[in-house]
Amino acid sequence: MDFHSIQQRDCLVRVVQADPEPLLVILPTGDGKSLLFLVPASLPGARITVVIVPYVGLKDDLVAKAQAASLHSAVFTTSLQEPVPLIFASTEHMLENGGLLHYLRLMSERGQLEHIVIDACHVVLTDMSYRAAPLQRFKRLVEFKCQLLLLTATLPLTEEPQFVNTMGLTSEMRLQTMRCATGWPNLHCRVLGIPRAVGRNCDILGPPLMNLLRERAILALGERGIILCLFVHDLEVYQSMIHRNGALCYQPQIYHSKLGESLRSNTLAKWLDIGGWILATKGLGVGIDVPKLRMVIHMSFGQQDTLMEYSQQVGRAAWDGISGFCYCLHVHEDPESMSTALTPGSEALSNYLYATACRRQTLGAYLDSEAAICGAGDSPCDFCDDTLSWGLTPP
Ligand SMILES: [Zn+2]
Repeated sequence: MDFHSIQQRDCLVRVVQADPEPLLVILPTGDGKSLLFLVPASLPGARITVVIVPYVGLKDDLVAKAQAASLHSAVFTTSLQEPVPLIFASTEHMLENGGLLHYLRLMSERGQLEHIVIDACHVVLTDMSYRAAPLQRFKRLVEFKCQLLLLTATLPLTEEPQFVNTMGLTSEMRLQTMRCATGWPNLHCRVLGIPRAVGRNCDILGPPLMNLLRERAILALGERGIILCLFVHDLEVYQSMIHRNGALCYQPQIYHSKLGESLRSNTLAKWLDIGGWILATKGLGVGIDVPKLRMVIHMSFGQQDTLMEYSQQVGRAAWDGISGFCYCLHVHEDPESMSTALTPGSEALSNYLYATACRRQTLGAYLDSEAAICGAGDSPCDFCDDTLSWGLTPP
């Protein structure tokens, strides 16, 4: 079997051995995290592996992978009473009476439970909805007699103690951590700070976005790009500007949570099928592998946004190892007018946006505590690319 990294191979050994200690695995997007539960579930005599996923899109993606590998798997329902080697469940299933926790207890008592896997486990820190009721259920998962496997693409070293505490992991449980550097050598990181002017952010950032799309955001057939915005209103403003300016030769679709489930999943499916650009709020297909994603453009950030979430969003443009671009267009505020009440994550994002030297260094220092600048063979950031001239003059 070919492995993406030594860490991936070592993790798999520990999972197959079903070590009693909980295992926290930080591997970059696309570095084969799902292999860590697909392989053990495929072994003869495998007991039950339950994979809990925070997002519906991610669950569908994993179910498809299990089916492609011809694994005996099921999506959890409250009517499930029998053991299945691989079960996919969502965090909502933990809230149901007689739901997932009941099933886990039953299987644990019968000695049939082997692993509980929490995929994209960083959401307990980044997603507000996980800080309320479901979180208390996460803490109950450590009580079951099986290996707890916590998977994520991004968990900065500085955030690890808070994560451990949030998950209810005590020092007696002897958590083991496997960490692989998550910086992406194939990702061009670029930030365009537009000086604050009178007007709404979308009016200030619209013209440079049109220039960026016309001059640099060229996708080949089947490739994908995302323009991520804070508000639904901004999506509509930019969609209309793109149409008026002819910045793209077609009208990109819009994706946001208010579309309704059916329209949302149709829009996502169409984009995944055809490719091209999509305008979206930040929940777009979080956690799923988007093939041929080459560009991610962030239009502004909110006070709650963090460098950890940002790196999750742009990492998807790098997971296949092919050159990708991430652009941030943001309104460059006067430093004296900026909020001083920043959380560590949002302060790290601010440091990245307002950096005066290599972006890779800022990103690496926060995510992996490895502050290396762009080197030979890396896709250079805007500071390290000598050939880069923005040329994005407002029309
Ligand atoms: Zn650099």
